[in-house]
Amino acid sequence: MLQRRQLLTAAALSPAAAALPLSTLPMAARAADDSAKPFDAPYAPVLSQPSREIRTVVGLRPYRSNGFRLEHEKFGRRDVIHNYGHGGCGVTLSWGCAQLSVELAEKIDDRRAAVIGSGVNGLTTALLLLRRGYEVSVYGAALPPYTTSNIAGAYWHPTTLYDGREAISDEFVTQFLRAARIAQRAFQHLANDPRYGVYYMRYLGLREKPPLRERTPYFEGDDLYAGLAVETDPERYFGYGYVERHHALMIDPDIYLRALMRDVENAGGRIVQKSFKTADDIFDLKEKLIFNCTGLGARELFGDETLGPARGQLTMLLPQPEVDYGYVNFSAENGLLYMFPRKGAILLGGTVEHGQWSLEPDETERLRMLSGHAMIAQRIAEHTKNKKA
Ligand SMILES: Cc1cc2nc3c(=O)[nH]c(=O)nc-3n(C[C@H](O)[C@H](O)[C@H](O)COP(=O)(O)OP(=O)(O)OC[C@H]3O[C@@H](n4cnc5c(N)ncnc54)[C@H](O)[C@@H]3O)c2cc1C
Repeated sequence: MLQRRQLLTAAALSPAAAALPLSTLPMAARAADDSAKPFDAPYAPVLSQPSREIRTVVGLRPYRSNGFRLEHEKFGRRDVIHNYGHGGCGVTLSWGCAQLSVELAEKIDDRRAAVIGSGVNGLTTALLLLRRGYEVSVYGAALPPYTTSNIAGAYWHPTTLYDGREAISDEFVTQFLRAARIAQRAFQHLANDPRYGVYYMRYLGLREKPPLRERTPYFEGDDLYAGLAVETDPERYFGYGYVERHHALMIDPDIYLRALMRDVENAGGRIVQKSFKTADDIFDLKEKLIFNCTGLGARELFGDETLGPARGQLTMLLPQPEVDYGYVNFSAENGLLYMFPRKGAILLGGTVEHGQWSLEPDETERLRMLSGHAMIAQRIAEHTKNKKA
């Protein structure tokens, strides 16, 4: 049974278009897409078979119903800058939130900082601090490749971040819009540098037919999605009657986080594996300026009960270098499904379960994903065969 938020997420990924003409609707897009393949180039089907599975994993997105927390808090002589709770888009927003949190520290004289957390937000914050001349130590209970950030898709798209427009403050909206733009621009500059594993990919939001509600533009701005268009001709995309497509920025987390760690260390940062039980343990550190980038860990450490898990399960298949596109599909039959290619795996996903803490893979989910993605692959294969005939 799909939860309301899951439906909203799916709707956001494939927005509605009741009043659209039956043809392509080109929309504004400013990012360069020269290196991305054209949309009418062939699509290789994913081999979604149990014999190709390499692992099934569960990750807990650090979700707050009113969005991430980017805030300065005083604890006696300590200054804590919170940067956590990025839900399903912590990689997406990382450069922007790191920039904003470093700005929050500008008025503080201290130039020696401890960053707690060595996921994408801790490492990016550390890097920006080092570039500004701070002395930085990063402390993380888990280091890459064993962080939630390594589980992320990671498709550049702000999603699963808050409950709805009524749940977020105007201050959050300002932070969010700025962070999204800063982050998207930063990733553009890393695209296609093989050291970072950031690249453009053809993205397809596949639906059988146009949803009932009219398409609403992305909150962060349609111009952040290069080549954004809606197709309603089922002949073009494997029989799907409503396809939203764009050239998406993809971040391959294993490659990317390794590169971030290397960049932090090359810039003089120290990365230490260390776990803290309470905030007081953190305050025992010699550094008095603390960046709290602990993701879901902030709930225990700083007593933030608005923070909770949005559980996601992924099944990884053997890599297929010929698969150079990704998709999200929502159907009444199979629910939410998404597929993104990585260098080391094909990633199959499709769950967002709020309030669920279990890290145990769910067998029913695993089978739903394998069979659901196999059905999509079959449509892609048949369509490609018919086109050739
Ligand atoms: C299935 C799934 C799919 C996703 N897909 C995407 C996507 O496509 N795009 C996207 O942008 N995002 C995606 N996300 C979300 C993304 O993974 C998170 O938003 C992001 O990883 C959060 O990064 P972070 O650095 O804040 O937290 P984390 O990566 O969780 O890092 C937190 C760090 O804090 C440390 N820590 C926590 N508590 C303590 C403690 N007590 N003491 C010491 N250290 C501590 C941890 O050990 C870790 O080092 C996805 C997540 C999941 C689960």
